[in-house]
Amino acid sequence: MRLVLLGPPASGKGTQASVLTEKLNVPQISTGDMLRAARKAGTELGKQAEGFMNAGKLVPDEVVIGLVDERLEQDDAKDGFILDGFPRTVPQAEALANLLEKKSTPLQAVVQIDVDRDLLVERATLRRTDKETGQIYHLIYNPPPAGAELVHRVDDQEETVKKRLDQYDSMTAALLPYYSSKDLLKRVDGVGKPNEITERLLVALGVN
Ligand code: AMP
Repeated sequence: MRLVLLGPPASGKGTQASVLTEKLNVPQISTGDMLRAARKAGTELGKQAEGFMNAGKLVPDEVVIGLVDERLEQDDAKDGFILDGFPRTVPQAEALANLLEKKSTPLQAVVQIDVDRDLLVERATLRRTDKETGQIYHLIYNPPPAGAELVHRVDDQEETVKKRLDQYDSMTAALLPYYSSKDLLKRVDGVGKPNEITERLLVALGVN
């Protein structure tokens, strides 16, 4: 299965991608996770990306396209993948189509997870990640266990979340007509419990 998961920040893309990766047995490729790892490791790429990420802006297309190109060359991505957080612009989507066309392995589906803006702001500001396991929690709806060491992403502060949502509306939302015109786009309602959303995704993908 070669799949792209689309959705605004805090729509649950990352959570769903990690569940689907188990069910579909293909790797989750998250450009956000890869960039955060590079930032943490202090690599050249991490340094290049850091300012954009902390400000809630998109990292330049050529940087993320190079990253995905390299990642798709790895063995575990030969039989499929779930892209989470990429593409985010039409030039990224075009670059992805070209990369996949060269391998004769086009995308099979693109699913957008829809959630209202007010709920997204609330989710992001109350989202916490377990430093050790990477598990994502919501302080009210999916509270972490006592004693867990939690991180609040710098770009999940309210003002930055709003900027990321504006960025999504102005650049990434253009991917919906792009993929719809290619007959690849499916949409699911992203409001509900995580396992209900997984069910909806599997139904949309025709694999349940
Ligand atoms: P995410 O975890 O997907 O919300 O990504 C966190 C941040 O990483 C974004 O706000 C961007 O600064 C950067 N980023 C991740 N994926 C991309 C992408 N495909 N294009 C540009 N910037 C990205």
